[in-house]
Amino acid sequence: MSGTESKDVLLSTQIVIEEALRKLGYGDEMVELLKEPIRLLTVRIPVRMDDGKTKVFHGYRAQHNDAVGPTKGGVRFHPDVNEAEVKALSIWMSLKCGIADLPYGGGKGGIICDPRKMSFRELERLSRGYVRAISQLVGPTKDIPAPDVMTNSQVMAWMMDEYSRIREFDSPGFITGKPIVLGGSQGRETATARGVAIMIDEAMRKKGIAIEDARVVIQGFGNAGSYLAKFMHEAGAKVIGISDVNGALYNEKGLDIEYLLDRRDSFGTVTNLFRETISNDELLTLDCDVLVPAAIENQITSDNADRIKAKIIVEAANGPTTLEATRIVTERGILLVPDVLASSGGVIVSYFEWVQNNQGYYWSEAEVDEKLRRMMIRGFNQVYEQHQTRKVDMRLAAYMVGVRKMAEASRLRGWV
Ligand code: GLU
Repeated sequence: MSGTESKDVLLSTQIVIEEALRKLGYGDEMVELLKEPIRLLTVRIPVRMDDGKTKVFHGYRAQHNDAVGPTKGGVRFHPDVNEAEVKALSIWMSLKCGIADLPYGGGKGGIICDPRKMSFRELERLSRGYVRAISQLVGPTKDIPAPDVMTNSQVMAWMMDEYSRIREFDSPGFITGKPIVLGGSQGRETATARGVAIMIDEAMRKKGIAIEDARVVIQGFGNAGSYLAKFMHEAGAKVIGISDVNGALYNEKGLDIEYLLDRRDSFGTVTNLFRETISNDELLTLDCDVLVPAAIENQITSDNADRIKAKIIVEAANGPTTLEATRIVTERGILLVPDVLASSGGVIVSYFEWVQNNQGYYWSEAEVDEKLRRMMIRGFNQVYEQHQTRKVDMRLAAYMVGVRKMAEASRLRGWV
């Protein structure tokens, strides 16, 4: 693995994809095919703002590889969205789908915007405008969007409605993460956190840590982080640190999670209610058993990797650890459960939602949770076994498991 630190998420992904393919015995042509998305659409979305003026937003949709099936992945609303990030995120989606053995390739979309500064109606117009702009390229058997950073079930509802109007028939299977009454699945909203909790259980089993003794630190209090805090607290673990964009909270006896969940706003902000906060660096290097980065990219780097005290890192965010930091924590004996495995609960239950939409037959929450658990544990075991038998770090092991089916499907289709 490259010795120099890169915070370029696309480049880092390409380095590991290439390494995984070479280890699996593939050559230059397969590397060339899979290191970039097969399709990237760039769109301009004019939106009438509440003040009557038109603002033109910039958006993307990337489709990494569709040899296995339609592409699948969320749409992110964030000021830092950019082309390289969307491309990398689409590749990660392919890997998640590969590890979970879903009949999909990866896709991802994003719009450069700040939803925290937009009104409800402006967000609706932006969401609908995005669907009009990408409608030729997406659909229930082509490319299926879903929620991601700062998009939610309401955004999915507007997008589904817009697509159904364009196509002139009801198309719930066009998008996942919808509200339940519009064809959403039980358990989808909590799925990413459920999946992360299952991965924490498996990793703790390997390290011989009991849940009652576990001290957990979670960076980020959005969809994944907040539900995870709830599940960990309910399971008897002590959540000693959490954070949001403004700061971090710490209590060695365990934070009052119920209070924090009650007071967080819809973007996961809560620390502004407290006077005594700690820094992000202090949070990441707290003495704990399990550290869960559940926010954004490049949080664990060569600057802090040798000071991390956790025994286990479970990546609920996409791309929170650089390659250099992966090397450092692996050498230090920390068990790292990488993003493409740990955060795949969301897309797994999205797959269940799509299957239910296609069948018009809906499952109970218990059924969804049980199926999710089975798929996540199978993924963990495959990755862990690859890690042990091939003597590669957990990230490379996950890439090797994740890329296999896609490479084989591309070869069988005669693309390479
Ligand atoms: N945005 C989520 C992810 O990064 C979910 C994608 C989906 O449900 O399709 O995995």
